[in-house]
Parts: sequence; C-alpha cells; structure tokens
Amino acid sequence: MNRRQFLKSALFTTIGAVVLSACKKVTTATKSLADKVFTKKYKDIDVSLIGFGMMRLPLKDGEPDIEKLQGMVDYAIEHGINYFDTAWFYHGGKSELATGTVLSKHPRNSYYLADKMPLRILKDKSEVIPIFEEQLKKCQTDYFDFYLTHNINKREWETLKQCNVYEQLLEKKKEGKIKYLGFSIHDVPELLEEVVNTYKWDFVQLPINPIDWKTVDAKRQYEIATKAGLPVVVMNPLKGGQLSTLNEKSAEILKKEKPHDSLSSWSLRYAASLPNVFVVLSGMSEPEQVTDNVKTFTNFTPLTDKEQEVLANAITAYNSSGAVSCTYCQYCDGCPVGIDIPKNFLIYNQYKATAKKDRLIIAYEAIKEENRADKCINCGICKAKCPQKLDIPSLLKEISETYKSLK
Ligand code: SF4
Ligand code: SF4
Repeated sequence: MNRRQFLKSALFTTIGAVVLSACKKVTTATKSLADKVFTKKYKDIDVSLIGFGMMRLPLKDGEPDIEKLQGMVDYAIEHGINYFDTAWFYHGGKSELATGTVLSKHPRNSYYLADKMPLRILKDKSEVIPIFEEQLKKCQTDYFDFYLTHNINKREWETLKQCNVYEQLLEKKKEGKIKYLGFSIHDVPELLEEVVNTYKWDFVQLPINPIDWKTVDAKRQYEIATKAGLPVVVMNPLKGGQLSTLNEKSAEILKKEKPHDSLSSWSLRYAASLPNVFVVLSGMSEPEQVTDNVKTFTNFTPLTDKEQEVLANAITAYNSSGAVSCTYCQYCDGCPVGIDIPKNFLIYNQYKATAKKDRLIIAYEAIKEENRADKCINCGICKAKCPQKLDIPSLLKEISETYKSLK
C-alpha cells in the first residue's frame, strides 16, 4: 500500500463502506432550495443538515449577547437552518434561557429544538421531571422536538439506570412533550453498544471529525449506531475549533485546493458526507460563522475522493505538529488545585500551530499563576473525566517544561 492509499484507508475508506448499510437503515433523501441550506429527511420531517449549536454563544461583558445572537439566529432561520441544540450546562445554564428568548421570536413550527437531561447532576430519580419542566420553561416552549440524555459515560450510565431516566422521559414522549428521544455519548464503543442494546432510542449524538475518526474510535461508534438503525447528530465536528484554524502547513494544503472555502467547511462537509448523519452541529459565536456555514450548506456537496485525500494530507500535517487533542469541552472542570486545563492546552496548541515561542511565553504568563500547568500535583482526578482520554498530567508537564525551555 503506497502513502496515498494508506492515507485514504486510514481516514476515509470506511465512509464508502458504510454508505450501503446506512442507506438501508435510514432515509437519506436530501434537497436544496435556491438560497436555503440542504435538508435531510429524518423520519417524516426535513431537518437542516447544518444545526446551530448554542454552546459557544456570542458574549458581551461575560453574558450571552442576546442582540447579536438574535441577528445570527434570524439569519440562520431565514436561510433554512432549523435545528437548534442547547443544554443545561451550556454557558452555566444561560444557553437555554438565551435560546428560548431568541427562538420565541419565530413561530414554534419553524424550527426544531434539542435539549438534554443533565445526568451529571442527578442525585435521585425524583429530580428528573422537575429539571425537564424547568428546561421547558427556560426555553419558552411546551415540548422539545429532540431530547437527549446528556453525555453518557460509565458513571452517568449508572445514574441513568438508577434514576429511571429513560422510563421517565419515555412518559414525556407519550405525553407529546418529547418528539424524539436520544442520547449523546463520549465513551468507548463497548458502552455505546450496551446503551443501544438496553433501550429503544430514536437517534444518537456522536463526536465525529477527521481527527477523531481513527484516534478515539469515532469510526467504530458511527458504525455501531448505523448498524443499530440510529440516525446520527454530529457534535464537535471542528474538534473544539482546532479544525477551523489548523496550522500553517495544513491550512496551506486546503487553501491550495479551494482558496475560497473556509478551513471549517472542510471538516463540516466531512461529517455531513456520512450517509447516516442527518445534522452536523456547529457552535456559532460570530455572524461570519453563520454566513460561512450557510454558504457551505446551501451548495452542499459531499467530499469527493480527491477532496478526502487532500483533507487527509492536511490532517496528517496538523497531527505532526504535536497539538494536544483537547476539544476545550471543560468536562475536566474542578481541578483541586485550580489548574485551568483547557486554557493551558489552548495556548500550547496555538504555539504548536504557529511555532512562535514568544507567543507561548506571553500567553502562559497571562494565565494566573495558580491556574498554570506547573501547579499540577498529578492527582489524576481530571483524567477520568476527559472524553478524549488525554493523559492530562503528562501533557501539563510537557507544557510546563516547554515553557521553561523557551524562557
Ligand atoms: S492531575 Fe493535575 S490537572 Fe488533573 S486534577 Fe489533578 S492537579 Fe488538577
Ligand atoms: S482536557 Fe479533556 S475534558 Fe478537559 S477540556 Fe480538554 S478534552 Fe475536555
């Protein structure tokens, strides 16, 4: 196998292999209307292939900037984006409120709203319905089109079962307050298999992007979902924004092929090209991101074989920079000594992308001393929480040592 063949097989060939089986499981008819984004058939409704993730909202003085968000959401709806995804945890609970405020300006039947049960905070089964009812109020709605149990991992899976979460949400589905019941998961394929085989779900939300396809078993997870007949919503298609910036070398590869396409568009199209995917979520913080996503999905075409190869080359170039695979999801919050883990990884990745040593020194010193990588006591608490399975203490040590060596 030559290098070209290897790259293709490593990252992309399985897409083709799953096309046939996926087509048998779900309806994949797509359509595009003049200046509207592509839609895909999910059961009996048309859902925009690009969804608006409400997890990285525009901010003003540290709070969601409602005026700016309203303009972005209005533009999105006007151009056919009709899937909006929020959660209890996003922006410390303020995403649901902001989502309710901006969507309430539009007819309820002009969009589909997704929210999630925060398994992580459940202590008792009696808490499930009050939380659900509170979410309806915060989102200013009588029902959720899509509702998920949020972020199943080994611990949360036990919580879900012990608190009868599925059974209680099924009752809400029977009452018409949930149209489609699904789950999001950040864990090993074996757990996904167990979740899929234990209850009857309508869909699943998985992290899929061209880096994670191989490295954290996204490919296998996608195949399990497809085999089980569960249509997929994609989260994290840009790997926490890493794939919208990449590094100089990888960006150059993509720009050479398509000078007018954004770097983000490549990975969004990558995820959207999978036949069993019906929504790709993009957390949009700026109006330019909305217009760029609308542009990408108005004239959406799946990645061609040649484009897949180009993207594989760019990813190889990016991976060789030694960037940390952090998605900045903040699930590792709560370090006992106060280290800001995602911030340390972010500045390190920016250094890796640019190779500018001054940039690392300035950025590292801008972090409060108590939040810096060198304060890690290697207790390991964060490791168990990281969906990317990063060896956080070792990586923090690497950052701290790199800083010292550059200083
Ligand atoms: S291993 Fe280090 S970063 Fe992780 S929780 Fe412990 S002290 Fe914090
Ligand atoms: S280290 Fe892991 S848990 Fe923490 S922000 Fe990064 S990906 Fe998320």
